[in-house]
Amino acid sequence: MTMRKRFQLFRPKAADNGRLLGVVSDFQRFSIHDGPGIRTIVFLKGCPLRCQWCQNPESMLARPEILYIRNNCIGCNLCQEACPTHCIEAVSGRGIVIDKAACLLPLCGACQAVCYANAINICGRYLGVDEVLEEVELDREFYDRSGGGVTFSGGEPFAQPGFLLALAAGAKDRGLHTAIETCGQADWEVMEPVLAHLDMVLYDLKHMDPETHRQLTGVDNRRILDNLRRIDRLGLPIRVRLPLVPGRNDSPENLRATAAFVAELTHVEALDVLPYHRMGEPKWGQLDKDYPLHGLAPYTKDAVFALAAIMEAYPIEVTVGG
Ligand code: SF4
Ligand code: SF4
Repeated sequence: MTMRKRFQLFRPKAADNGRLLGVVSDFQRFSIHDGPGIRTIVFLKGCPLRCQWCQNPESMLARPEILYIRNNCIGCNLCQEACPTHCIEAVSGRGIVIDKAACLLPLCGACQAVCYANAINICGRYLGVDEVLEEVELDREFYDRSGGGVTFSGGEPFAQPGFLLALAAGAKDRGLHTAIETCGQADWEVMEPVLAHLDMVLYDLKHMDPETHRQLTGVDNRRILDNLRRIDRLGLPIRVRLPLVPGRNDSPENLRATAAFVAELTHVEALDVLPYHRMGEPKWGQLDKDYPLHGLAPYTKDAVFALAAIMEAYPIEVTVGG
């Protein structure tokens, strides 16, 4: 792969003037957990929340970012030589350190292009609507056979509202089943036009108490709960998802409050409990960020089912794992 080709993966091209572009962090094909059937997940970058347990911290900012995998680094210093602003420094015991304030991303990317050890990985690339949908359509045959389609995820997909609207409308025009995974923290004026092109909503509820929600995620939950009620009134099928995190939102009081709220809605198919895991922790370090829940042990299987049982007392279907 030539250096120039790798640059174009994440840099808006001059020819893109006036064309609607979004920042996509990744595609996941053959997913069976994010809506019906076999699906392709489109991960859009950018999120208004800062959840302590976030498993995709590379999706928080709506722009390309560098992840540095120190264990892959062979200390060749080619990145330092290639960097036009000299913002990469070799630091004893830490490998390389990048001065993000001086970094030229997304207009550069020279470091990734010369790093053949794959220690430098740039997450996020600018893509047009048709480029995304053409990637999604590669597995059309599997969607048709399984009742699957495309799911827009993130980050928070509503954080790129114009791009998301164009994606959802374009996917519907192509006859695809469309779903979204959302935290619900968005203006209703932004959400409503997108929802008109969606077949299903996967909706996160993190905590029912506004102040605790703010402490855990950076925002309170008032708009999130209000938006969920509004989506329910539209009649769209909904699956509510509860990321269950030890000591953060797993008190019996919060579980009962969550189940009671969901039970009052009309179009919720199920409440999916998503138990805390630590698979995303290494990415916090690769982004040079501290993981807020370092050392927190996941649940045992028995503990998860005991907590889920508290919510099964309400007239809703509760699943573990989604
Ligand atoms: S080019 Fe890659 S392997 Fe070489 S020093 Fe830089 S990060 Fe490490
Ligand atoms: S992307 Fe940033 S760190 Fe990498 S070479 Fe360019 S300016 Fe330097």
